[in-house]
Amino acid sequence: MATTGEREQWREWIETKNKVLEEQLYALARQTRENWYGKDVYIRGLIEFTNYCKNDCYYCGIRRSNNKALRYRLTEEEILACCKTGYELGFRTFVLQGGEDLFFTDLRLARIVAAIKETYLDCAVTLSVGERSRKSYEMFYEAGADRYLLRHETANDAHYGQLHPKEMSLENRKRCLWDLKEIGFQVGAGMMVGSPGQTVECILEDLEFLKELQPDMVGIGPFIPHCETPFYGQKAGTVDQTLRLLAVVRLILPQVLLPATTALGTIEQDGRERGMLAGANVVMPNLSPSNVRDKYQLYDGKLCTGSEAAENLDNLKRSMEAIGYRVVSGRGDRAGYVRKAI
Ligand code: SAH
Repeated sequence: MATTGEREQWREWIETKNKVLEEQLYALARQTRENWYGKDVYIRGLIEFTNYCKNDCYYCGIRRSNNKALRYRLTEEEILACCKTGYELGFRTFVLQGGEDLFFTDLRLARIVAAIKETYLDCAVTLSVGERSRKSYEMFYEAGADRYLLRHETANDAHYGQLHPKEMSLENRKRCLWDLKEIGFQVGAGMMVGSPGQTVECILEDLEFLKELQPDMVGIGPFIPHCETPFYGQKAGTVDQTLRLLAVVRLILPQVLLPATTALGTIEQDGRERGMLAGANVVMPNLSPSNVRDKYQLYDGKLCTGSEAAENLDNLKRSMEAIGYRVVSGRGDRAGYVRKAI
């Protein structure tokens, strides 16, 4: 648990409109990041391998009720072809993300993970396929998966209920995260910034939860409305609030792997660079086949071009160099991480 003093400090940082205090916060976050990771920027190749989803989250553009979404699934061969392209470009982490699509059974997914790990011995595989049973997660770990991303979305029960239909629960989401951690994955939690109904108190609960869970990664990006969801017309989260939160999370979890997310790059042109300067140390360019990229529309206007596209890695490298950082090749594990034996 955070002390009252700590909580008040978090609150001040999150709420401040004082540019001087903000700059101090970012400088402190950068210093902390540089103590652990120097100037290195880790890259991940993001493969969005299915947009079928059995869930109906109110914020998400690929929710099952969106019958305008053009659904697709990649085959195992297509996924491996993405990895090949990515490997040649210098990626050493592949992130397989998708909707909750039960076509991809545990066995099928485990096979895909194993195939990637057999071909690319020096690569890490990250899964981001939502809530499954502990047994499923164990199977993925045994197949060789290294990391798992599952944003908790909000640590406040009532707020969770405002974002999700009643068949989903914060309790199960948290159960998944604790299971993943116990099994031995590098685990990523996280939340959207400015989602409908989010208050400063919700954010403080998020921070409290992150402090308790001690995840290896935290995904934080602004909420952006999607026109085919119940949240169409709601306000998007702001860049400044996202940056302040990135910095505070860096200070609470000094060694955390913290991406400057696509959503941040989408709401502002130099969002990703500003994320880096607020304590982020990871970027996740899109490695999906170009013919499906525009179909993985979690929110309106989602970027998949420019530096967001894996094949434009040179752009990204230059933009990172321009702010004093350098993109490195390599798995980019969390500092100090040791894989647990099965
Ligand atoms: N099915 C997987 C992957 C979800 S997509 C899972 O459940 O983990 C990855 C993330 O995109 C989500 O966790 C959510 O935080 C984010 N996201 C979804 N819709 C969004 C929106 N409208 N604006 C911003 N981020 C969104």
